[in-house]
Amino acid sequence: PVPPIAAPCGPKRRISSAATNTKHIAQASIFWALQSRINSINPDECEAGGEDAFFVADLGEVYRQHMRWKINLPRVEPFYAVKCNGDEKVLRLLAALGTGFDCASKAEIQQVLNIGVNPSRIIYANPCKTASYIRYAAEENVRMMTFDNAEELYKMKKFFPDARLFLRICTDDSKALCRLSLKYGAPLDSTRHLLELAKELRLDVVGVSFHVGSGSYDPTAFVTAVRDARRVFDEAAEVGYDLRTLDVGGGYGNDNFEAIAAVLGPAIDEYFPPSVRVIAEPGRYYVSSAFTIATHIIARRTVQEDGSRNPSYMLYLNDGVYGNFSGILFDHQKPVPKVLKCGDQYSFESTPTDSQLIKYSIWGPTCDGIDCVSSFSYLPEVLEVGDWLYFSDMGAYSKCSATKFNGFSDNHDVVYVVSDPGALALLTQAAADEQLSNSPVASFHDGSSGWAMI
Ligand code: PLP
Repeated sequence: PVPPIAAPCGPKRRISSAATNTKHIAQASIFWALQSRINSINPDECEAGGEDAFFVADLGEVYRQHMRWKINLPRVEPFYAVKCNGDEKVLRLLAALGTGFDCASKAEIQQVLNIGVNPSRIIYANPCKTASYIRYAAEENVRMMTFDNAEELYKMKKFFPDARLFLRICTDDSKALCRLSLKYGAPLDSTRHLLELAKELRLDVVGVSFHVGSGSYDPTAFVTAVRDARRVFDEAAEVGYDLRTLDVGGGYGNDNFEAIAAVLGPAIDEYFPPSVRVIAEPGRYYVSSAFTIATHIIARRTVQEDGSRNPSYMLYLNDGVYGNFSGILFDHQKPVPKVLKCGDQYSFESTPTDSQLIKYSIWGPTCDGIDCVSSFSYLPEVLEVGDWLYFSDMGAYSKCSATKFNGFSDNHDVVYVVSDPGALALLTQAAADEQLSNSPVASFHDGSSGWAMI
């Protein structure tokens, strides 16, 4: 196929820096994929659901996030939190990059094992586990797992006495969007007792873990948690354990990653000698910015507000909070709509002036009143039924928690692009080596800018 827009990195265009260039290549590849998919849909004649919402995933972005991690936190081995987005191609890419995986259930462990990951690269990081899942982990030799209470230790003794246990401690997560310490984590005044009980039961405690809360916006929470973990390491030594691994959890954002790394890296070095292995469980950091969703406007209602000369509109999309926008309910997300196609025109990156803006509220397709994607948004065009909107940064806690409520699909197509030559080379090599069966191979490759659609 011939791209309908030129990648904006051609020789005639002057790009100020490598980062800007990368961003432009990424945006061009995503837009090209959005556009070619929409061009292939005739909403007047397609099968029912042929115009369903779909994602474009940029595996190049996942790759770049990994490189960014390695530069900023070189001592910390990421174990990607599968719960955040279990997209198989993402998992395969991360497996090829050598990350580990944090799994919360049997199904996640199975998914990661199925793509050929060694069980030693998996941590079953759910402090309150189903007994039969523990037995499954034992059968598959997935030995690393977390606990934070006495009852869990008895369960481990019964079903998997050889497990390598991480004591998850409570953190101050008051500045996180999604608080986790309300539910998980041993308070610091209970850790000695738990370690003594584990010793009595002859269980193998190997480390300490924490999670400062998902969507944390306070980098100092990581420093406090590292200091607390040090205390528990010392307590464990007094009880007779020689702990070797610190797990610094998840909670890393795209916007605050460098700020976190700037305090977390030095804190780890201050409190833990190089002999201690350090792992982490990042989820949203890896995938949030890598996924864009395109949604179709299925209905519109005109609202003539009192006193206003101009109407506003209620737009109804074919995806909502019971679908891929579930993060609005579960993850405090505020997705930002942008116009993708209005009439015959694609308006990606259009920059409106204030006078052009029109007010919309944006709704999902189910019959429930809480199915609201945005209670008000201002967009530059008069949008009609049949037009398309897109939303960036839709990779984290989105499709993983979509439901079939009202009979809508919970499984939307993903079109993949690779906007980074390094990622493309890795994926192609992995396929050639047959290390990863069914790996993607480029089906369109723009030689001048180095991105591909797969
Ligand atoms: N690890 C555990 C145990 C979690 O519960 C979560 C999220 O809930 C994560 C890692 C990933 O967190 P995030 O996506 O904020 O990095």
